[in-house]
Amino acid sequence: MINGALMETKELGKTKEKIPALGMGTWKIGSNESEGIEALKTGIDIGMRFIDTAEMYGTEEMVGKTIEGMDDMFIATKVSPNHFRYDDVIKSCNRSLEKLKVKQIDLYQLHWPNSSIPITETMKAMEKLVDLGKIRYIGVSNFSTKEMKDAQNALKHEEIVSNQVEYSVLVRYVEKEILKFCQDNKITVIAYSPFGSGKLYGQRSNSMYDLLRNVGSKYQKTPSQVALNWLMSKDRVMAIPKAANIAHMKENIGALGWKLEDADMNKINDFLSDERPMVWSLNPLVKRTSSFWARLMEYKEMGRNMRGKTK
Ligand code: NAP
Repeated sequence: MINGALMETKELGKTKEKIPALGMGTWKIGSNESEGIEALKTGIDIGMRFIDTAEMYGTEEMVGKTIEGMDDMFIATKVSPNHFRYDDVIKSCNRSLEKLKVKQIDLYQLHWPNSSIPITETMKAMEKLVDLGKIRYIGVSNFSTKEMKDAQNALKHEEIVSNQVEYSVLVRYVEKEILKFCQDNKITVIAYSPFGSGKLYGQRSNSMYDLLRNVGSKYQKTPSQVALNWLMSKDRVMAIPKAANIAHMKENIGALGWKLEDADMNKINDFLSDERPMVWSLNPLVKRTSSFWARLMEYKEMGRNMRGKTK
């Protein structure tokens, strides 16, 4: 299915299907629709074939317009936690299909766990969508190991193929448990915010950025390319940076086609960021609390964007 000539691939779950190791995130891509479309089209022109969106981002229509007429894209979107009731999942999927202008969504993900709705009810709807041919694969996002196990147990005939989680050189709590669980169980890890939502660049004087620059000079690669290569070099991990800036988009694809040597991987693995000490980034409880507030802000902002659009 994937035709991007430049693309390195990773196996999606246990499906034996290969998906691009580098995708395009779309949260807040572009200050307006045409800017977003231009950025995504640039990515496609240089070989990108995976796009990640979500009903909550308000970017599904933009993605639909970008990929109209293409048949070699891999499209991932997400259903929001407030739509996890059976009928709501079906309705959300139908809406997403319409906005994306596709007959089938490649990867449909639960955006965030919602303990107030039984996971069995949500997964029944997800399997129904597979049976109806509206989605190909089921994924989750921001799920802990326990939540992944519960979600898998709630499925009758499908398997969870991926967990989309925050993972970057700066934010590494997934390494505590989730990463190994996914690797052992052949679940693809989709690393979101691979540049810490841009924090990596706000700290240019910090030593993580310096380390990436030093490592990169050996390969003639930029800190961004090293940060992405470090993620993609890990078993089962793919990354979905967001780049509205065309130069950034082009730079990021330079993370493909080469490999960090083990010694350099280890330098980054072993590095404790001054800004986010290990004790912070490896503590799932602290992390989840901080993520909760970060996401709450994210949802509020998306709500504002969506209200703005309907005016
Ligand atoms: P990110 O990809 O870590 O960082 C994006 C920021 O980095 C933007 O400011 C971008 O600037 C900048 N950037 C990109 N490439 C660059 C380069 N080569 N040099 C310098 N700056 C560069 O942040 P993110 O948007 O949070 O995460 C990426 C995607 O993950 C999202 O778009 C979304 O699809 C997904 N996500 C999922 C969840 C979830 O809960 N599942 C949560 C957050 C994000 P420009 O835009 O100006 O190029």
